[in-house]
Amino acid sequence: MNPLKLIRKNILALEPYSTARDEFTGGDISVWVDANESPYENGVNRYPDPHQHLVKERVSELYGMPVENIFIGGAGSDEAIDIIYRVFCEPRIDNAIAITPSYGVYKVAADINDVGFREVQLGADFHLPVLDLLNAADAHSKLLWICSPNNPTGNAFPREQILFLLKHFERMVVVDEAYADFSDKESMLSAIADHPNLIVLRTFSKAWGMAGMRAGMAFADPRVIRYFDRVKYPYNMSRLVQEELLKRTACDVAPQITEIKAQAAMMLRRLPALECVRKVYPSDANFILAEVSDAAAVYDYLVANGVIVRNRSSMPGCANCLRITVGTPAENRRIIELLEAYESGKF
Ligand SMILES: *Cc1c(COP(=O)(O)O)cnc(C)c1O
Repeated sequence: MNPLKLIRKNILALEPYSTARDEFTGGDISVWVDANESPYENGVNRYPDPHQHLVKERVSELYGMPVENIFIGGAGSDEAIDIIYRVFCEPRIDNAIAITPSYGVYKVAADINDVGFREVQLGADFHLPVLDLLNAADAHSKLLWICSPNNPTGNAFPREQILFLLKHFERMVVVDEAYADFSDKESMLSAIADHPNLIVLRTFSKAWGMAGMRAGMAFADPRVIRYFDRVKYPYNMSRLVQEELLKRTACDVAPQITEIKAQAAMMLRRLPALECVRKVYPSDANFILAEVSDAAAVYDYLVANGVIVRNRSSMPGCANCLRITVGTPAENRRIIELLEAYESGKF
């Protein structure tokens, strides 16, 4: 399977923008007057590295993937989602297939790019509707979005099912692993070498604790990554963010991840015992989807008490469901206490 066959013709033919720093190679330079920058040094007067070499090397070490397999998004992994459409999907002609309920950005980015979007509802207990997904494809289907662990349902899908889709859906399959750091299931990163139609998304926004920085990654076959890098804005990650990423990824977030996982397990034990909670779905992520007696009422009650959760009631299969992010131990205790008070009518 050659992924280049799926790339839009105008993108294959694209002559990418060449930055001042691309055209200069090597030499001992002390006067930089090639890019119309300010000469007054202040830490950000020079353009950042458009190829994010140091960041890619760090990501390569962290994720055990070669640099050629890495794309860095300076607007988070959301940037990669948009670029995937722009590289593969012909507006008004091609379409993408996705599970529902899932992450909202896949559809918004399809709409912005004027690309068809076909949603296939998850099965009972949010299992992956493997055959329905394959059946939803036609000759113009270019992409399949699988979010695993899935937002907002919290479950990671079995590896064998994703491998089956990679084999039988002969277009690009994007596995969004924004929450994989919290899951005990194996990442799909290890399948990239054998599957040129696989793209894996990861992010610094969740377990790494850098949502405010906007930094995400796509991993794929080097032939695919080369086109992502051509389509991105030349300087898509600021100098400040590149420097900060190098500093912050030197710190170990494993203890935080361990605590979040333990707290998620605690919430999964405690929530089902509450009177207003009807059902709690298993979670491989840092959030829990809980079906309550009356989502709007419980939501308003929590807001009145200074706690904001996400009401996901309007999503398919999620009637009366609230999505609760796992917070600090004190925050989680507070949520449990509030929900206990709700059931006993103390408020
Ligand atoms: C939070 C989230 C992301 C991360 O987006 P960034 O742009 O990297 O912050 C990606 N996918 C899913 C499913 C998410 O929930």
